[in-house]
Amino acid sequence: MSGLPRCARCRRPETSASVVSALTPAQALSGLERILGAGGLLSGELPAADLEPYLNDQRRLYHGRALAIALPRTEVEVTGLLAFCNRHHIGVVPQGGNTGYCGGATPDESGRQIVVSLSRLNRIRRIDPLNYSIVAEAGCVLGQVQRAADEAQRLFPLSLGSEGTCQLGGNLSTNAGGVHVLRYGMMRDLVLGLEVALADGRLLSSLGTLRKDNTGYDVKSLFLGAEGTLGIITAASLKLFPKLKSFATAFAAVPGPRAAVALLARLREASGDSVSSFELIPRIAVDLTARHIPGVRDPLDAPHPWYVLCELTSARAADPLGDLLERSLAGGLEEKLVLDAAVARNERDRAAFWKLRETIPEAQRRDGGSLKHDISVPVTSIPDFIERGSRWIADNVPDGRLVAYGHVGDGNLHFNLNQAPGADRAAFLAREAPVKRAIHDLVRDFGGSFSAEHGIGRLKVGELERYAPPIELNLMRTIKRALDPNGILNPGKVLR
Ligand SMILES: Cc1cc2nc3c(=O)[nH]c(=O)nc-3n(C[C@H](O)[C@H](O)[C@H](O)COP(=O)(O)OP(=O)(O)OC[C@H]3O[C@@H](n4cnc5c(N)ncnc54)[C@H](O)[C@@H]3O)c2cc1C
Repeated sequence: MSGLPRCARCRRPETSASVVSALTPAQALSGLERILGAGGLLSGELPAADLEPYLNDQRRLYHGRALAIALPRTEVEVTGLLAFCNRHHIGVVPQGGNTGYCGGATPDESGRQIVVSLSRLNRIRRIDPLNYSIVAEAGCVLGQVQRAADEAQRLFPLSLGSEGTCQLGGNLSTNAGGVHVLRYGMMRDLVLGLEVALADGRLLSSLGTLRKDNTGYDVKSLFLGAEGTLGIITAASLKLFPKLKSFATAFAAVPGPRAAVALLARLREASGDSVSSFELIPRIAVDLTARHIPGVRDPLDAPHPWYVLCELTSARAADPLGDLLERSLAGGLEEKLVLDAAVARNERDRAAFWKLRETIPEAQRRDGGSLKHDISVPVTSIPDFIERGSRWIADNVPDGRLVAYGHVGDGNLHFNLNQAPGADRAAFLAREAPVKRAIHDLVRDFGGSFSAEHGIGRLKVGELERYAPPIELNLMRTIKRALDPNGILNPGKVLR
């Protein structure tokens, strides 16, 4: 046990003592091979390069080791694998597209855990256009679910920058947000039912497609946002919506966040709540994307301090959304809520505006070191939060530049810092702890959340302990013990 990382507080190994198998690695591997069949297990005999993608998180914050990578094809194989691992106390790390931001899908450094990749459980099981529902397996890539809905003249509205890679199981397990939360809610709001393999190998099969079902506790909701610590989701039944047929998209310069919030309220009223996205973008993000991402350019002629990317959508083909948006922006110009605006004339313009927004994380990465904070506060408080946070950064982080952007319609900001030009990367990154503490304390003062849509994973376990009300933490631990008494499911993630 001595090689395992230790908890900073209690000095116990981070992988709980119970999650140590009595089997030798060879015995464990041969047991798993029997369950998963030929091609169902990747282990150390393969070249390291084949295993690497499963062992690193996408931000490269964590690098783990694993006894093996399991690639089950069916929910029955997942239940068999969990029953085996539970019996032999082997830690299991579920992994989807591995695009999560908190290290939740990366195994620890012990080399004793199994990564369970859901990528081969990727069938759309059924789609019911009249019931506006779809049943899909956890390993379906989000884009695949969106396309299946589209082919049936329906919309599955979850949309993220990572939708070409992230998987449904990961979206459910992180309760993903994205750019349409304002209109359609988070992933949790889109779920009708779940199929989940439990730690002891039982299968919770609750794939109903009912909108109304008040029969006791809502058990499925426990697994949404649980980041693989309570069960492995193998399939879900999801809500669909009418396919969108009209779009109006604008990239508008605004004097500041206060004007952006006022403009959002005006647009929601004027459009009968047809606003499906409303993203705040600072000037520095336009500069970073234009510099680092080929094909991105500033849509407006002159520079401005802040922008919003807003989109109105409708399922009616002939809805005059373009006129409505232009009239609202013209009204905004008169009231000095808007300084200038470009309205997309065609799909190419629209795609260009969205490319600028969705490549901000990549541009930040290419520009150098960054410190990231995925926070939310009530929408009304966004301007004051940005003002106070910016002041603190200007006074305390001379080698950092604020890049605050995000889903302002949901009160969610990616309140990030990038190293200033010429700054020393290591010295800047070494400021992480005090910067995080100051920003998350400020978030708490505003009644906000230190993790709006990215979850806890391994990265924010300490933050959860610091900011969650003790009674909530206590209930979380009680639920964890009840569903996973041997602590085999994603050990060390969410709860220590
Ligand atoms: C460019 C980019 C843009 C992004 N934009 C957004 C955004 O706008 N909004 C947002 O919310 N997130 C965003 N993300 C973060 C990420 O894409 C989401 O969190 C996504 O939901 C993760 O899905 P995944 O399949 O990659 O999950 P993974 O990273 O593989 O796993 C995430 C967590 O879920 C667990 N898990 C995975 N599959 C299962 C399963 N079947 N059963 C149980 N547990 C499971 C893992 O153990 C881990 O704890 C973005 C990421 C990138 C790279």
